[in-house]
Amino acid sequence: MIRLEGVSKYYNTDNNVVLGLRRVNLEFKLGEFVAITGESGSGKSTLLNVISGLDKYDEGELYVNGEETSYYSVEEFEQYRKQYIGFVFQNYNIIDSYTVYQNVMAALMIQGYDPEKRKARALELIERVGLTSHKNHRASKLSGGQKQRAVIARALAKDCPVIVADEPTGNLDSETGKKILELLKEVSKDKLVLIVTHNYEQVEPYATRKIRMFDGEVVEDKPIKSVTPYEAKPTISSKNISPLDVLKLAFVSLFSVPKKTFLVFITLMFAFTAIASIYSLNEWVKNLGSINNYNPVFRSNFEGRIVVTKADESAFTQTELNDLLNKSKVQSIIHNDILLDQEFQVSSNGMFTYGTLRPYFGQSLPLEEGRMPEAMNEIVLYPNYYGEFYRVGDVIDLSYAMNNRDGFYLNPATSYEMTVVGLLKESYYNYVGVVHPSFFNQGITNTYNQNNLMPAYAIHQNMLITVNKSTDNSQVLGLMKNYIFIDDTLPDGQVILSKSFYDILIAEYTTLANLQAQTFKLTKPAIKYSPLKTVDIQIIGEKDGDVWAQEVYINKQTYMDLFYEGPYQITLLTNDTFDARQVMNGLGSNYVSVHPFEYVGYDYGIGLGGLIGFVYFLVGGFIYIILNLVIKSIIQSRRKDFVIFRSIGASKSDLRKLLSIEQALFNTFGFVLSFIPLILMNIYIPQFKVMRYIPILMYGVFFLIFLLVLLSINAKFANKLFGKSVITTLKSE
Ligand code: ADP
Ligand code: MG
Repeated sequence: MIRLEGVSKYYNTDNNVVLGLRRVNLEFKLGEFVAITGESGSGKSTLLNVISGLDKYDEGELYVNGEETSYYSVEEFEQYRKQYIGFVFQNYNIIDSYTVYQNVMAALMIQGYDPEKRKARALELIERVGLTSHKNHRASKLSGGQKQRAVIARALAKDCPVIVADEPTGNLDSETGKKILELLKEVSKDKLVLIVTHNYEQVEPYATRKIRMFDGEVVEDKPIKSVTPYEAKPTISSKNISPLDVLKLAFVSLFSVPKKTFLVFITLMFAFTAIASIYSLNEWVKNLGSINNYNPVFRSNFEGRIVVTKADESAFTQTELNDLLNKSKVQSIIHNDILLDQEFQVSSNGMFTYGTLRPYFGQSLPLEEGRMPEAMNEIVLYPNYYGEFYRVGDVIDLSYAMNNRDGFYLNPATSYEMTVVGLLKESYYNYVGVVHPSFFNQGITNTYNQNNLMPAYAIHQNMLITVNKSTDNSQVLGLMKNYIFIDDTLPDGQVILSKSFYDILIAEYTTLANLQAQTFKLTKPAIKYSPLKTVDIQIIGEKDGDVWAQEVYINKQTYMDLFYEGPYQITLLTNDTFDARQVMNGLGSNYVSVHPFEYVGYDYGIGLGGLIGFVYFLVGGFIYIILNLVIKSIIQSRRKDFVIFRSIGASKSDLRKLLSIEQALFNTFGFVLSFIPLILMNIYIPQFKVMRYIPILMYGVFFLIFLLVLLSINAKFANKLFGKSVITTLKSE
């Protein structure tokens, strides 16, 4: 079955060539039990290794079933080993982290044994070597004799025609050694058994033939007993391990070294968490920068605010407003958006302070005391000035204050009575208080104030009266809005002027006049308060009053005709930046929108983008180094296992697959585990908003990047490991 013809083998060491085998001629048949003896260094192991295809030979020819092997490739030798050879070595080459059962099972999987009969076969083999009671024990826990028996069971699992055993009893006491030999003899009647031994006497009773080596040569070859020859018929499939079996093996391997596996899981868990956190951190830092920053265009630049105008600059219709309110993530609409950027004054008992108002629409704001506003006339105050002066339950006056933007001073005599229902914990210097959104949308702020007309849309508007001189050209007189008064007893389009004003006008001009609303336009972003509007009025009389005041009385309808056409700019309220961005993305081309919170860019010297890139680089590099170390140590600690896998017939490509699947499993488990710290962070440090800004797709990207990194690290170490021949690796163990 196996025939060697003039086989020689040399070892090239650093400075000379060592003889391993010299012109060996031998022939072996099935049914033989061959004892190979000789002094140490005489070439016994070399002979076994050459026969079993673990080592190459330099001269002569090794025939297997008459076929030449000198031109075999590495893969062909792998196949040969897989189909023909079962190994039993002196050092009980067994996978220590596996149980006896797993060791035997691995051999059955690798040879592609029928999955349905596998388990029964494994148990039968374990029974045969007398280890049934130890089948679920880890190999590392077994005694030497037990290990050797497990190895024999595994060798038999392959059901291959040749069993090579290199000093299988070398490390055993003579009693145990004898039992092992008995076992080998008993289980291998139809096989070729080649046993290298120092102790010929021990093997002699079982041997059918004795070979003695000396200095690489066969110096004695004598039959001891007659042999019943068998036909060679390798029964092992030459397929690779099935993908399912690779997966099973990967699972077994991971859980056979739970501590190391756990270490990788934890490493990956932290790695994923770190990368996800940096992603969120970027947003967080941006937000921190924005909160207290003075925004030159928008005084109210809280996170959830979106300022919207129409692309064609026309007013919003009620249908459009309803559609916008119904969009998901939109919590509320403020029609009189401009009020958000208006300064208000909070006063009581002669104390006062200024700031913008912030609407409460369910967003999380930290309360020191009380509750958030639920009605139009309720207010929650920011603390640092008010905490000492105001208490929950106090009634304060809220009034328009000077507008910083264009220096308009609005008469603070107009005020709303508001009840303080809560005090906030945090202070932002821009804000004076938090009110219910209905405050901004109420009729009174929408249109005008009694005696002091201040429609939200008209805050930045002025009024002009154009009168026609009877003889001359037209004359224009400017008028501040706070000199316009509502008198609903007047008919539409008719006005009464204060006495002195009337006298001037009527003395010189006609009673016909054009009243105009003058707009103030801001540039970017698309903010437009009102278009220029003209209404014809007729001056019908005069009114007693301040002699010097230029006052105009008109009815509400006329006022509305002049100033109110509907909202041109609104604010959509959403919960935070994340929602705001989503809503803005879904607005479509009919609208122009701005997110005041992000309206001003921030400069951190090297730029936030660069800084974050640098952080990614640092953390990523650190993670890479750690993963390298961990994976390297794991793969190296399993070198022996891989050699054993190969010696029992797993090909390099099988093992590469196994390793890759292990990495994929590591990655998957680490990824899933990373949601634990992420979710905990979400609960316990909500302001950090980790995960909030990570789109689902991004998780996929993280997962893939980590998988690629793991696979590349893995490939690096696998190449090193598999670059060496099986026997070199085995010998170095
Ligand atoms: P035995 O098993 O009979 O003790 P070996 O087959 O291991 O003998 O070794 C035969 C000869 O080959 C010895 O001189 C040994 O030093 C040498 N040899 C074995 N393996 C190597 C190797 N990998 N590199 C160099 N020399 C080796
Ligand atoms: Mg040896």
